[in-house]
Amino acid sequence: MAQVTRMSKLMIKTLRDDPADAEVLSHKLLVRAGYVRRTAAGVWSWLPLGLKVLSNVERVVREEMDAVGAQEVLLPALLPREPYEATGRWEEYGAELFRLKDRKGADYLLGPTHEEIFTQLVKDQCSSYKDLPVILYQIQTKYRDEARPRAGVLRGREFLMKDSYSFDTADEGLAESYALHRAAYQRIFERLGLDYRICAATAGAMGGSKSEEFLAPAAAGEDTFADCPNCDYAANTEAITYALKPVDAEGVGAVEELDTPDTPTIETLAAHLGVEASATLKNLLVKVDGEIFAIGVPGDREVDMDKVEAHFAPALVELVTAEDFEGRDDLVRGYVGPQGLEKVTYLADPRIAPGTSWITGANKEGKHAKNVVAGRDFEVSEYVDVVVVQEGDPCPSCGAGLKLDRAIEIGHIFQLGRKYADAFQLDVLGQNGKPVRVTMGSYGIGISRAVAALAEQSADDKGLVWAAEVAPADVHVVAAGKAAQIELALEVSEQLKAKGLRVLVDDRAGVSPGVKFTDAELIGVPKILVAGRRTAEGVVELKDRRTGEREELPVAEAVARLV
Ligand code: ATP
Ligand code: MG
Ligand code: MG
Ligand code: MG
Repeated sequence: MAQVTRMSKLMIKTLRDDPADAEVLSHKLLVRAGYVRRTAAGVWSWLPLGLKVLSNVERVVREEMDAVGAQEVLLPALLPREPYEATGRWEEYGAELFRLKDRKGADYLLGPTHEEIFTQLVKDQCSSYKDLPVILYQIQTKYRDEARPRAGVLRGREFLMKDSYSFDTADEGLAESYALHRAAYQRIFERLGLDYRICAATAGAMGGSKSEEFLAPAAAGEDTFADCPNCDYAANTEAITYALKPVDAEGVGAVEELDTPDTPTIETLAAHLGVEASATLKNLLVKVDGEIFAIGVPGDREVDMDKVEAHFAPALVELVTAEDFEGRDDLVRGYVGPQGLEKVTYLADPRIAPGTSWITGANKEGKHAKNVVAGRDFEVSEYVDVVVVQEGDPCPSCGAGLKLDRAIEIGHIFQLGRKYADAFQLDVLGQNGKPVRVTMGSYGIGISRAVAALAEQSADDKGLVWAAEVAPADVHVVAAGKAAQIELALEVSEQLKAKGLRVLVDDRAGVSPGVKFTDAELIGVPKILVAGRRTAEGVVELKDRRTGEREELPVAEAVARLV
């Protein structure tokens, strides 16, 4: 919407120095440029300019979701315990779930994701196959008590997410809803100006089959993904750990015997393998009564060693040797193929909080179970080995050497299947008059995280650089001089507004041109128009924030260029 925002009246305080607690670029710059302000650990306030960027991201997401026929709703963030009890997630979600009680002592939670509530909503609203398919979405605040809220809005404990849920009667319908989301996400991230890859992912805490992540390469990212320089294969290393370490002719694969430490820990294993515990280290394989399980360790971020050790240390007695893998190539192969996640023998579910269920897989009788709790359902008796993906490992699709890179997870799409529909007996009446169990998908985009991801990818040494679609303004007009220049700058601003542009004008009196230029570069509006000495003669300077190119032009021409 066309408007003129005057910096003389704007609540903005830019900072010359990086905040002391800031580790990553986006955090430093978003704070310094006055976009966000920390309220508590992982809890952020959005200031006027920041909110404009956030709202722009929301608008793009909304437009593309609406375009694929998704309907926007708004469900509460404050949720009752019962539906999450019904799916087991009240317990399973572990320490990340914010739980609270009302004055009567009833349990509530702050929604970390809303599968349960959407399933209930559709059960209430839809009764016939004619009501489906339906895709619902919301843009809403989510709460997760992240173990390490760091990196500013990249990983908040309160953050803004677009989450959508699809409901279909048949598997083909689900595949179609998934494809619609995939395409919408591609358009969204292209419009936002984000560089991203679509990667095969593990299903993680959601359960279910097909899943892909949208990863934005950036040094500050907490995910490691493998990128093939030769074909379009890309996968989160979590998903391909085993695919990349196939069992060789001797049945050995990458499994090696360790020089037995008394109580092997993630750190000792990492040291043995020469990797950082927090880098690519992913999964422990644990032998339980002769059956081998994978236990996911959240290796893309730092591991809470105390908790891991509390689970494992007493029981880690024996190292598994290469022979344990003989004839068991299902354990080390078949995770991910060219089509993505193909076959899941077992899935590691990385939640290390004591007392929570954190393995999905076969139980000791070899039956498929969920909600298996280590220590309750079996004893963790033996330690096996760690398998890591390394730079140069062969691409499962074409064999070329893979590159490993860091990335930010900006979006995630899942085919959930009937897990939630089963929990709530979500059926609709089918064409033949018989009830049909509904199949679901769930799809997320980190809206607030996208702002930080954009900052990470496009900032330079002077500050932020926004793409036009998300920038807090189209033009930043700088009055470089005294009252006369301020007046002229405001005049040009009005002309630009009349042409439909959003203008940020630095009309602050008593602030030097040098400070204004520095602030303009820090704030990162894509075009900067300077009203300076020659403006009285009708000449302004037009500067491109990204390239630094500048040109003197008559006002009318500058305005024409910007429209
Ligand atoms: P991560 O692996 O970074 O913890 P996630 O896999 O737990 O993310 P999902 O449950 O897939 O996240 O949620 C959907 C999207 O929400 C993510 O792809 C991400 O963009 C965003 N998101 C998740 N957690 C956070 C957070 N703590 N702060 C900001 N955005 C987040
Ligand atoms: Mg998470
Ligand atoms: Mg993730
Ligand atoms: Mg995810």
